[in-house]
Amino acid sequence: MLEDMAYRWLEAEVAPHYERYEKQEMVDRSAWEAAGAAGLLCASMPEEYGGAGGTYAHEAVIAEALGRTGTDGFGIALHNAIVAPYILHFGSEEQKRKWLPKMATGEMIGAIAMTEPGAGSDLQGIKTTARKDGNHYVLNGSKTFITNGQHANLIIVVSKTDPTKGAKGVSLMVVETDDAEGFRRGRNLDKVGLKTNDTSELFFDDVRIPTANMLGTEEGQGFVQLMTELPQERLLIANQAISMIERALAVTIDYVKERRAFGKAIIEFQNTQFKLAELKSEAAMARVFVNHCIGEHLKGRLDTTTASMAKYLTSDLQCKVVDECLQLHGGYGYMNEYPIARMFRDARVQRIYGGTNEIMKLLIARSL
Ligand SMILES: Cc1cc2nc3c(=O)[nH]c(=O)nc-3n(C[C@H](O)[C@H](O)[C@H](O)COP(=O)(O)OP(=O)(O)OC[C@H]3O[C@@H](n4cnc5c(N)ncnc54)[C@H](O)[C@@H]3O)c2cc1C
Repeated sequence: MLEDMAYRWLEAEVAPHYERYEKQEMVDRSAWEAAGAAGLLCASMPEEYGGAGGTYAHEAVIAEALGRTGTDGFGIALHNAIVAPYILHFGSEEQKRKWLPKMATGEMIGAIAMTEPGAGSDLQGIKTTARKDGNHYVLNGSKTFITNGQHANLIIVVSKTDPTKGAKGVSLMVVETDDAEGFRRGRNLDKVGLKTNDTSELFFDDVRIPTANMLGTEEGQGFVQLMTELPQERLLIANQAISMIERALAVTIDYVKERRAFGKAIIEFQNTQFKLAELKSEAAMARVFVNHCIGEHLKGRLDTTTASMAKYLTSDLQCKVVDECLQLHGGYGYMNEYPIARMFRDARVQRIYGGTNEIMKLLIARSL
């Protein structure tokens, strides 16, 4: 039921505006509140905190509906399945009551700021600091490539509470940006694809936040908190990838049945059939693996190695599938009015964010 509802809602309420969102390089703020009213925000958060009381399975359904309707640049999956879980799992009762209901309505839009200009893959190298000053922390530093960066008003900032301690000196600070003096958004970054998603630089210049805004019971828990949540982030990328793989195949199969050359439909060429047969087989294999990972995750058994495999395999496959599918469209595939063109542009980043695929291989290699 949720799949059907999410699909139909996105088709009716987001897809018709998508071209405009692409041009303005972000969705309308009102789309977030509408998604909240439709029940598509915080589906896996408990009802007592304004959510729908679901599980990751519900988030997977929503993330895949975004992929299947071609509205993947609407950043609700990150808000739902990456940002909100940090608050649920590591927040105090007071923090959960304060922030989650507002995230469920769309009044608060979430982001997580790990990456800095000088530190991406090597997260321990971050320079942003949170210095304690009485009952406040004072944040200084800058972040970049932050998804939902223009819209977000609840940002989890990965900072060093003790720069001398490496990973053990990292803490997660929640910045409510609405009244945060010293907080500044940089430009909405000009990306290759995923245009609808606002991605930004963020600057923190002596931003004072209450000590009560730290996630966790004491300083220094941030790195472990990140490691705990990253498997779900990686699985989410795999869910997005598989749904976009399936959509790319569907639109391409339709296209090659219509388009003709040398007196026959493109699908009648053996090359087309073999290519699509290969891609469909690989997609089927990836689908089974992703579903297996969801099952494991719901049982609390999805480990870092397996989640990394899912992220790396499906995002690599997504890039391969959209490239081959674009080729089967000929010149029309390179025209932005054809969905495969945008799928091609949107796919590329999947191998980069959420930990690059090289980092995924490093993590997998540790299990050898
Ligand atoms: C559209 C978009 C949205 C994003 N959203 C967010 C967000 O919401 N929040 C956030 O915090 N970040 C976000 N990111 C940042 C993203 O997670 C980083 O870009 C990514 O982790 C890589 O970091 P980097 O760009 O600094 O690359 P680098 O770390 O500089 O890597 C450069 C290259 O070196 C390779 N490399 C690095 N270390 C090793 C190694 N040990 N062995 C082998 N190869 C290595 C990498 O794989 C890569 O190919 C986003 C990025 C993009 C593009």
